[in-house]
Amino acid sequence: MLISLIVPCYNEEGSLPILYEALCDVRKSDTSDRNYEFIFVNDGSRDKTAEIIRDLAANDKGVKYIFFSRNFGKEAAMYAGMEKAKGDYIAIMDADMQDPPSLIPEMIKDLDSGEYDIVAARRVTRKGEPKIRSWFARRFYRLINRMCDVEIADGARDFRLMKREVVDAILSVKERQRFSKGIFAWVGFRTKWVEHENVERVAGETKWSFWKLFRYAIDGIVAFTTAPLRIATYMGFFFAFAGFAYMLYYFIRAIIGRFWTDVNIMGYPSLLCFILFIGGLILMALGLIGEYIGRIYIESKARPIYITSEESKD
Ligand code: UDP
Ligand code: MG
Repeated sequence: MLISLIVPCYNEEGSLPILYEALCDVRKSDTSDRNYEFIFVNDGSRDKTAEIIRDLAANDKGVKYIFFSRNFGKEAAMYAGMEKAKGDYIAIMDADMQDPPSLIPEMIKDLDSGEYDIVAARRVTRKGEPKIRSWFARRFYRLINRMCDVEIADGARDFRLMKREVVDAILSVKERQRFSKGIFAWVGFRTKWVEHENVERVAGETKWSFWKLFRYAIDGIVAFTTAPLRIATYMGFFFAFAGFAYMLYYFIRAIIGRFWTDVNIMGYPSLLCFILFIGGLILMALGLIGEYIGRIYIESKARPIYITSEESKD
């Protein structure tokens, strides 16, 4: 029985040695006849990550690696790792120790029990994170869960141990702009959640700026639901109806005969407001449609999800 641990790494020279030690501890503490493979995916790091990984692989047969030709993002790194993994159980974890490796033995036991196909980690606190980031994150989960059919758990990390079937299912989802939190939920299977406190990264710093997270949130929504398009339609209906009612109102007033006496006052500012308001809404709806069309465009080009520049031999 083989267990694959996939680690996406981007500029992680500080944390990799610490993580590797922790993974070795996990491997050593396992007294059964399970084998382990560690798959490091170097996502175009600019620091010494590549050298460190090569070193580890030279001294440890259990270490496999893939290097990307440039930075393709964590989603691509996870995908590449899953493609390479040969294990019966496959885990994805961050390089910065925010996904505690010490949870792995427990997770393996949960899968062994046969009751679950996935054991996934969730952080129940967001200690050590900027307040507004947590606030926006909560809003995001509320919003996406209201709009999508799949349930995406608040605080869910990408840290999870999965059976082979689950990983095959995830790999069969071929879309290029991947939003894994959604794909994990979408493929289904029986999931057990283990909860843990937020852990701060051991070295280096987070690769996610606020705006990068914001874009990621929009990507997630656009990838998993077309509900925003429907909102544009509803708004269109609403304003068309309101406009019609308004017209009717003045028509009736004109018939009654008081048309020119008091209506012209403030006509110009109110007209301007309406034009700006409706114009803004139209542009917004167009932008929204553009988001979806842009995505169709990218998907239709069918480019590979990542490009490999170097790979360990199996
Ligand atoms: N990561 C990656 N490619 C990227 C950004 C991040 O492979 O473009 C990896 C990174 O090395 C780490 C994991 O994804 O192992 C999570 O990144 P980070 O800790 O910066 O995110 P956070 O924990 O702050 O959400
Ligand atoms: Mg992190």
